[in-house]
Amino acid sequence: MTRRGLLASFGASLTALVGARPALAASKASDPAWQLSEAEWKKRLSPGAYEVLRREGTERPFSSPLNKEKRKGTFLCAGCRLPLFSSTTKFDSGTGWPSFWEPLPKGITTKIDFKLIVPRTEYHCRRCGGHQGHVFDDGPRPTGKRYCNNGVALVFQPA
Ligand SMILES: [Zn+2]
Repeated sequence: MTRRGLLASFGASLTALVGARPALAASKASDPAWQLSEAEWKKRLSPGAYEVLRREGTERPFSSPLNKEKRKGTFLCAGCRLPLFSSTTKFDSGTGWPSFWEPLPKGITTKIDFKLIVPRTEYHCRRCGGHQGHVFDDGPRPTGKRYCNNGVALVFQPA
């Protein structure tokens, strides 16, 4: 069996085990000060931001006003306000989600998820562990990466 086949069958059996759309918790916060309870997060966040950041949900495409945000500035984690992306790396991917070709240094951490059976690289805020989006290899130069981010998980701070 090929490596890809092996991974796919592992994903499929995992999906069969836990259901088609497992409700995942967010990744662990690296900073103990941001290890909040679910009740505390619910209080801090809008329902939409909670669903994405803490439950690894995905917002509807073209639903975020940040898709059209073209000013210079910084995109912060909506959970803890850590700077994650600069406006200089934002591009229009046409997907309906705010997209970037590079994160700021020390902004994010990645992990592999099997939610759609085919493994994808999930990324989240390094400090609070809140889910942000997925990274793909079809982005523009110079990195060739496409960080596909949920707009509701970000807050824009104009420069
Ligand atoms: Zn955060």
